Amino acid sequence: MTVVGVVGAGTMGAGIAALAAARFSVRLYDPDTEALRAAPEEVETVSDLAALASCDLIIEAAPEDLGVKRELFGRLASIVSADCVLATNTSSLSVTALAAAVSAPERVVGMHFFNPPGKMRLLEVVAGDLSGPDAVAAARAAGEAMGKHVIEAADGPGFIVNRCNRPFSLEALRIVQEGAASFEDVDAACRRAGFRMGPFALMDLVGIDVGFAVARSFYEQSFGEPRWRPSLLAARMVAAGRLGRKTGRGWYEYPPGPPRVEASSSEELDPIAERIVCQLVNEAYFALGEGVGSAEDIDAGMVLGLNHPRGPLEWGEQLGLERVLAVLSALRETGGDAYRPAPLLARGA
Ligand code: NAD
Repeated sequence: MTVVGVVGAGTMGAGIAALAAARFSVRLYDPDTEALRAAPEEVETVSDLAALASCDLIIEAAPEDLGVKRELFGRLASIVSADCVLATNTSSLSVTALAAAVSAPERVVGMHFFNPPGKMRLLEVVAGDLSGPDAVAAARAAGEAMGKHVIEAADGPGFIVNRCNRPFSLEALRIVQEGAASFEDVDAACRRAGFRMGPFALMDLVGIDVGFAVARSFYEQSFGEPRWRPSLLAARMVAAGRLGRKTGRGWYEYPPGPPRVEASSSEELDPIAERIVCQLVNEAYFALGEGVGSAEDIDAGMVLGLNHPRGPLEWGEQLGLERVLAVLSALRETGGDAYRPAPLLARGA
């Protein structure tokens, strides 16, 4: 593989193009010529999609809109040769639905880079239902040539990493909604447990509206999975325009933002952090049981993609699966099916 095309020169596309240019000859396309101006020198910029005809791999990083991406993939498939691999950097859309828009859908895969692509070591290669093994292998090889640790995920809401991290915000919101702890206490408990940021500080950073839209999308895509039910608290923050850092106020006010809390070296989790960790373990067991990824890839994804202090499956072993099940069982009495254990977890304990 020698020529890589990147489609979309925004936050992700520009970063992926710069990263790929260290190893491949790279062409970067964007319909907005302004966006191309900031491209690094070693990247050839093009304003006509046809200039990508001789690429061996194309990585699409256009806006997160299925209609836009399907149209693009249809055009790309008619331009490139039959063995060109077409990859999407989507973080939430179905790779399978994109592939279905092109002839020879077996060449379509996901290559989900993390922001910023030059710094984050993880790459999630996503196999859609129609993706062929050669395309998956080519995406993995290209990612490894770019210096990435590659994990392989099946298609589905959030692939491995964003899916397995759902409880970090949703369980935190449930704890506060129930009045079991304040949001500041939840953040402090998570910091002490070794997470780089508490869930509420993280929601403020990402944008509460952005996180809420993701939560709604998971819930809709899963036809109402109780674990993924969006939070009324988050809905109220969005309605109030308290969206986080970008509006000067979310859970915290900016400045000064969240208070500093030191991580703890203790292996003991307090009950609030334990509750969140048990739900992370449970989600990881659901994902493992459903074949979304291997145990090794799930743990590596959470550590390398999100800086979690340890992978959820390792954490479950460390806590003891009996303990995880006991925590879930107690929560289920009042919280219902959001706390039902993954079948694989229940069998493994
Ligand atoms: P962005 O808005 O920064 O950039 C999108 C670029 O696409 C813009 O330069 C725009 O001019 C260009 N564009 C618009 N219409 C186009 C078209 N029809 N064809 C080609 N290019 C077009 O977006 P981003 O944050 O870089 O996200 C791009 C993709 O990467 C999305 O699918 C997003 O979900 C995914 N992603 C983003 C992040 C992140 O943290 N930003 C992380 C992982 C994945």
